[in-house]
Amino acid sequence: AKASGRNCHRFFDDSMQGDVQDRMRMQVGLARAIEANEFELHYQPLIDLKTGRMVGAEALLRWRLPDGSLMPPAQFIPVAEESGLIVRIGAWVLHEACRQASLWPAINGPAPWVAVNLSALQFRQGGLETLVAAALRDSGLAPGRLELELTESILISDPASVLAAVTRLKAQGVMLSIDDFGTGYSSLSYLTRFPVDKLKIDRSFLQDLGGRGQGQTIVEAVIGLASNLGLACVAEGVETAEVARLLKDLGCGYGQGYYFARPMPAEQLMAFARAQT
Ligand code: C2E
Ligand code: CA
Ligand code: CA
Ligand code: CA
Repeated sequence: AKASGRNCHRFFDDSMQGDVQDRMRMQVGLARAIEANEFELHYQPLIDLKTGRMVGAEALLRWRLPDGSLMPPAQFIPVAEESGLIVRIGAWVLHEACRQASLWPAINGPAPWVAVNLSALQFRQGGLETLVAAALRDSGLAPGRLELELTESILISDPASVLAAVTRLKAQGVMLSIDDFGTGYSSLSYLTRFPVDKLKIDRSFLQDLGGRGQGQTIVEAVIGLASNLGLACVAEGVETAEVARLLKDLGCGYGQGYYFARPMPAEQLMAFARAQT
């Protein structure tokens, strides 16, 4: 079993990304993984920096290989995007995240929300509003407890059609955030055009927070921008107590990162939330 496990990894190795045959093999594997139920969601707590409490969690996709190992999304999402399979995988993610979040109790304050990552292809494909409505209806999750994470590249890809779709999504009562904020585009005009609620500061900007670099200037600017636009702000990749405190002092509302918790299986999330109070 060990040998075949090693083999399995070898096929999906990063260094072979350019190899057409390997990509084909992974595509077949991904298509089968949907049928075989090999995907799972792990959840990373989102922390209110003022109170230190968990207020939400981001759903992060994992592929459980037949040998029991977990493949992180960076290794298979590019192939899933390229092949279009991300549309079917993304539909599963939405349903599963809503289903699991509907089971999360209110422990201390409101029940936590769940944040779900969307891919540009899910917008291009169309029908996203119907999918979101179905996931909410099937799970019974209150729309306000679902947050959809959009990247800047989604928002500028096809402004007219994406704006229409995003506006219809917003009308369903879900929350919208911009993921990896600051890494994409210099034009910020979309911020006033799209009905978004939150900015997620990319973790690359937190790297030299507290140090002498430019990270702090950018983080301060984004927190100020969010505040001026009436948007909430989440800092990603908080790895130390010092950074968490600094962000809080700068007025950032929420934090996410290894300092608070790593992504964890659904079964562990509520124990984490309880242990905090
Ligand atoms: P992301 O949306 O920016 O998610 C945050 C990533 O940062 C996660 O990696 C998380 O584990 C990692 N992270 C969190 N805190 C820290 C920290 O303190 N330090 C460091 N170094 N890293 C931290 P993960 O789970 O490997 O996901 C990678 C990316 O894959 C995500 O980046 C997202 O773009 C994509 N992804 C994950 N799940 C989905 C999904 O269901 N659908 C789509 N379309 N993309 C997904
Ligand atoms: Ca994200
Ligand atoms: Ca992110
Ligand atoms: Ca990222």
